[in-house]
Amino acid sequence: MHAKQVFTAYDHTNGRFEKRYRYCPDCATPLSHPPHDAQRPLCPSCGWVHYRNPAPGVVIMITADERVILGRRGRSSFAPGKWCLPGGFIEFGEDFLTAGIREVLEETGLIVEIRSILSVVSNFLAAELHTLVVVLEAKVVGGSPVPGDDIDELAWFPLTGPFPDLAFEADRHIIDRYRLTALEGVPVDPQYARPFI
Ligand SMILES: [Zn+2]
Repeated sequence: MHAKQVFTAYDHTNGRFEKRYRYCPDCATPLSHPPHDAQRPLCPSCGWVHYRNPAPGVVIMITADERVILGRRGRSSFAPGKWCLPGGFIEFGEDFLTAGIREVLEETGLIVEIRSILSVVSNFLAAELHTLVVVLEAKVVGGSPVPGDDIDELAWFPLTGPFPDLAFEADRHIIDRYRLTALEGVPVDPQYARPFI
């Protein structure tokens, strides 16, 4: 099975992205928008440039006995009612491993140890939402399963499926590739693989 690491939910190749800021956050001057949306808006007064980057996140394959945990997305989330691997965005002051442990705890109530980095994927989800996601594998070391944050139901599924309706194309590929290739991934920094207790 070949590796797939770029997933597109819409045509992002036309370079038309949302203009999210109209004023300079430093000096409040109206920003100058270049004719092509993919170019960076600029403040004509102080020179501030609106760099836009994909948002970095993590998803976690929590595995045991040839099964994986999925969560159902709550009503106020992106793709409500569909299922996904636990995960979320990395906070500014946070390393990606700590983010993985935190997101799992928030969404599942489980304490996990991160075992490996399985892949990295780019998701073009919508014009205002592009993500770069580190795919981690983890094992449960404590806690008890309780859905939380933007997840309202949790369940274990066999790696062979069948799966419920998944929110992200990437998740299905990640699970299938994990099962078919049995690749263990790249070891992680042991200092950050477990929760700080
Ligand atoms: Zn400015």
